[in-house]
Amino acid sequence: MERTLVLIKPDAIQRGLVGRIISRFEDKGLKLVGIKFMTLGDQLLNEHYSHLLDKPFFPGTRSFMQSTPVVAICWEGLDCVDAVRRLCGVTKAREAAPGTIRGDLAMSVQANLVHASDSIETAATEVKRFFDDSELFGYSSSMTGAVYSSDEIDG
Ligand code: UDP
Ligand code: MG
Repeated sequence: MERTLVLIKPDAIQRGLVGRIISRFEDKGLKLVGIKFMTLGDQLLNEHYSHLLDKPFFPGTRSFMQSTPVVAICWEGLDCVDAVRRLCGVTKAREAAPGTIRGDLAMSVQANLVHASDSIETAATEVKRFFDDSELFGYSSSMTGAVYSSDEIDG
């Protein structure tokens, strides 16, 4: 099964939305395999947002992302990279669809509550960047058999 990285951003920390945001992913049926609270250093942030380094807004984005610790989470599920991106909604939160996390809870482009990996390749890189192997947990979840049909999870 795929794994993907989610960051719960400083606006969610400041607004007290961490629990509600985690619940949205749990409610979807995703399996928690790693979670921690951490500050983002310059090097980690520059690697994470390397596609934005030249953008005029990046200094603002960086100081926003460093304004509080963030919650880093690794979720696991069938095709979960795409499923999690859809659940988050588009970057510009005030245009994000109702029903998505950004669409329901945010208005800003920068302060859009969550980060989610944007492709299978990016997810593999980002999970490795934020978590050591020893911080990711494989275990049997009793939820799996109820969330999926057997033909989806066997082979
Ligand atoms: N961002 C911003 N201004 C912009 C575009 C992006 O502040 O014009 C911030 C925003 O927090 C966004 C993050 O940079 O979530 C990463 O941008 P990306 O285009 O990768 O969007 P995402 O994948 O988070 O939807
Ligand atoms: Mg992105």
